[in-house]
Amino acid sequence: MEALTNMEKANKTFLEEVSKRSGEKLSLCYQCLKCTAGCPTAPNMEFRPNSIIRMIQMGKKQEVLGSSAIWFCVYCQTCGTRCPNEIHIGVLMDALREMAMEEGVHAKEKNIHLFHEAFIQSVRRGGRAHEVTMLMEYILRSRDLMKGSLIPGVKLFLKGKFPLLPSFVKGKGEIKRIFEKCKK
Ligand code: SF4
Ligand code: SF4
Repeated sequence: MEALTNMEKANKTFLEEVSKRSGEKLSLCYQCLKCTAGCPTAPNMEFRPNSIIRMIQMGKKQEVLGSSAIWFCVYCQTCGTRCPNEIHIGVLMDALREMAMEEGVHAKEKNIHLFHEAFIQSVRRGGRAHEVTMLMEYILRSRDLMKGSLIPGVKLFLKGKFPLLPSFVKGKGEIKRIFEKCKK
């Protein structure tokens, strides 16, 4: 059997690393596109969900971790229910976001990871996201107030779509334990 080139080894390593972290069998993907056809955020992604898997198979680590697509996934799980190979791309995207943050790789929307962090902190505090505190945290950390990206959120708040005060789940201890377990 022929020895693998360094490039082939690097490609294989990235595929193995992502498969292990996400628990998804990415080598089974045969590009049928059912995931992308049902994904509500695919039209906004620079690389569609099926393309992200193909890029991982090809070992394109920097392109995948630096792409906006991994931050646009809203974990709706539509892709996982449509995939004939039961690949859950929402779980995969979560693993890729973690890897990008660990390796300090940023998407071209430089503050997009701050929005993600504000969401996670909001869930950590109360067991569910509270839009108002989440937006406040994002504004403070990104100083993005004047750029217009928050205007839709402000409009929804003024229409009473977001509650002013957060409501917490009962099992806050369990939430704490989940976050502690995720750190290990
Ligand atoms: S639906 Fe599954 S097999 Fe088809 S492209 Fe998407 S991930 Fe690959
Ligand atoms: S989980 Fe993410 S990738 Fe899958 S359909 Fe929903 S938004 Fe798209």
